[in-house]
Amino acid sequence: MEFKTIIEPFKIKSVEALPITSKEQRLEFLKREDWNLFGLKSQEVTIDLLTDSGTGSMSSEQWASIMRGDESYAGSLSWQRFHDVVSELTGYKNIIPTHQGRASEKILASIAVNQGDIIPSNSHFDTTRANFEFAQSEPVDLLCKEGLDLLTPAPFKGNIDLEKLEDLLKSDNAKKVPFVLMTITNNTGGGQPVSMKNLKAVRELCNKYNKMMLLDACRFAENAWFVSQREEEYKNVEIREIAKEAFRLADGCTISLKKDGFGNIGGLLALNDDNLAEEARNLLILTEGFPTYGGLAGRDLDALAQGLKEITDKNYLEYRAKSISYLADKAIQYGIPIVQPAGGHALYIDAKTFLPNIPPHEYPGHSVACELYLLGGVRGVELGTLAFGVAQENGEPDKPATHELVRLAAPRRTYTQSHFDYVGEVLEKLTEKKDTLKGFKVIKQPKLLRHFTAKLEPLS
Ligand SMILES: *Cc1c(COP(=O)(O)O)cnc(C)c1O
Repeated sequence: MEFKTIIEPFKIKSVEALPITSKEQRLEFLKREDWNLFGLKSQEVTIDLLTDSGTGSMSSEQWASIMRGDESYAGSLSWQRFHDVVSELTGYKNIIPTHQGRASEKILASIAVNQGDIIPSNSHFDTTRANFEFAQSEPVDLLCKEGLDLLTPAPFKGNIDLEKLEDLLKSDNAKKVPFVLMTITNNTGGGQPVSMKNLKAVRELCNKYNKMMLLDACRFAENAWFVSQREEEYKNVEIREIAKEAFRLADGCTISLKKDGFGNIGGLLALNDDNLAEEARNLLILTEGFPTYGGLAGRDLDALAQGLKEITDKNYLEYRAKSISYLADKAIQYGIPIVQPAGGHALYIDAKTFLPNIPPHEYPGHSVACELYLLGGVRGVELGTLAFGVAQENGEPDKPATHELVRLAAPRRTYTQSHFDYVGEVLEKLTEKKDTLKGFKVIKQPKLLRHFTAKLEPLS
């Protein structure tokens, strides 16, 4: 590299005003929503790091492809273009478009999962877990030891524990395992990558025990980028070739194209097995649509086809990884404990370590998330006891979640270096307020997925 500066590898053609609010306004907005950040209007948020799902910017080539969209009900040109790109990338025989990732999961769970089944993974994402549980099976996370230790860096903290996987596959329970699902990158574990070595070993175990291997490949390009940076054998391999090889190790995949599809909506299910694919298509017609559009407009399919060509660009992936590790370096510099190393799509703050005086049932992660918003209009999300803990009857404290994290997820190609500098400054101010932060109590909550709509109150 000739230059130290990593520049955004794009220039801006169309802009959207960034809302600038005052501290007094932000306090008013948050009180109005009973301290729930999901209630805010987008014009009340300056830097929105709530999620990287469907929030990215499309390229001018994607917008151009939208105009080319063919809205024929069956056999459209848009479908053919989408099919060709996905087929070149993944190599899978049957490609089934859906409106988003969880629709693919729902179909997979309906055709390939039976009551009492056990589904091993490095870690299941929450919608994946919910769909398998809804099918009355038991999803199990067999994350490697390094992945369980949040604060200590390791190159491939998304790997599955191969010993535990083999123990399961050779046990009496093996007949209950319909497939092994590998999530790349591992969203639940902090966006950590899985090595090609680990994927190949899973393939060998699946061959040995005659099991199907599937990928939850939402962030396949980010995973391939980390492999190119961290796995010696792949140092000189093109990112796209690494991604292609990963797909070809498995027998099929589910993908939310709202992530590495560079799309605002979209998903797919791909399977080599013709019989399963036929069942999937039959269900697709029932819930999503005809197999050549699956819940998407022709123009969406075209935008996704173009996005899937752009996503493996080395310059883009380098800018993305560097933006997040840049923010991570700032957090470390200010003494904020984070999941290390930085993941592919987000910075994860460890609020349990940061605010040891606030117990899990008083939501230290929520306290951090609210303060980031009050300080600078930055919206992240609590992924701790508020999101995953279990409320108890009779005023007992919640059953806590395993971790108390706050996720700051970066939308793709949306924010620039100065935006990240600004977030860095907000993080610095957060450390100055650390000793004054208070916990929260829930005053009203629904039974399921409470963090989206719960009403809260700061403890004094
Ligand atoms: C986002 C995501 C999903 C679900 O996709 P949706 O498009 O939100 O339905 C599944 N798995 C992983 C790893 C994800 O990140």
